[in-house]
Amino acid sequence: MIVETHGHLADAQFDLDRDDVLARARLSGVTPFIEIGEEEPQWAKARALSESHPDVYWTAGMHPYYANAVDGALLDRLAQSIEHPRCVAVGEIGLDYHRDDSPRDVQRKALADLLAAAVRARKPVVLHCRESHPDRTEAQQDLLDILRSVKVPADAQKPAGVAHCFQGTVPMAQSLCALGYMIGVDAPLTYPKAGALREMVATVPLEHLVLETDSPYLPPQSHRGKRNEPAHLPAIARALADIKGVPFDTVTSVTSANARRLFRI
Ligand SMILES: [Zn+2]
Ligand SMILES: [Zn+2]
Repeated sequence: MIVETHGHLADAQFDLDRDDVLARARLSGVTPFIEIGEEEPQWAKARALSESHPDVYWTAGMHPYYANAVDGALLDRLAQSIEHPRCVAVGEIGLDYHRDDSPRDVQRKALADLLAAAVRARKPVVLHCRESHPDRTEAQQDLLDILRSVKVPADAQKPAGVAHCFQGTVPMAQSLCALGYMIGVDAPLTYPKAGALREMVATVPLEHLVLETDSPYLPPQSHRGKRNEPAHLPAIARALADIKGVPFDTVTSVTSANARRLFRI
C-alpha cells in the first residue's frame, strides 16, 4: 500500500465524487491518505473527511497565501484544532514568493509562529516553499533560516516535517535533509521539461523522500490539464523508480515507511 502524503480532497472539485475518488485510489493500491487543511475554513472539512474514512488523516495549517490572517487568536484556535487524535501535522505552512498574497515579512513571521505552535504540540510540519521565479532561491534561503532558528524547549524534539512539492536546488535539498526533513515528490517529476527537478531528486536518498499527488493540482503528464486524484500516485512512484534505478516496490515500501514514521500513522 502506498501512502498519499498530500491531497486537498475537501476541495469543491471533489464534491460530486469524493468517495469514488478515494475508492479508485484504494483500488490502485493507495492508502492511507493525508488530507491537508490549508486554511482555517478547511480544517473542519478535513477533520470531517478523516472521521468518515478510517484511512484518512488530516492536518491543519495556514498556507502562506493567508499569512495575513495569522494572529494570536488564530494560533489559539489552531492549537485547539490540532489536538484532534487524527490530526497528524501542522500544515501546510511556508513561504510563497510567487503569489506574494501577503507581504514577505508577514509570511516569515507567520511561518515562525506556526512552527512554534507545531513544536509546542509536538506535531510534524508540512512545508510549502515557492520561489518568485524558478531561478531564484530567496524563499528557500529564508525557509532554511527560519527552520534553523526554531526554538525547541529542552523536553521537546526538533520539529520534523516534509518540504512538500519541493522544487529547489540540490544544496537546499541536502540542507533540509540534514535538518531531518523529508522531501515531497509529485507528478512534475513526469513532465518533459522537469530535468532539473529529476536531477535534484536523484541526489536525495530514498530514505528522505515521500510521495504525494497534491490533488486536485499537478496531474501527471498523462493527465495534464485535468483534475488530479490520488489514484495517480503509482505514476509518480514509477517515475521515481526509473530515476533511482530501483524496483517500483522498493520505492513504494521505503517512501511509505518514511511517511508512516513522519506522521506516526
Ligand atoms: Zn503547497
Ligand atoms: Zn497543498
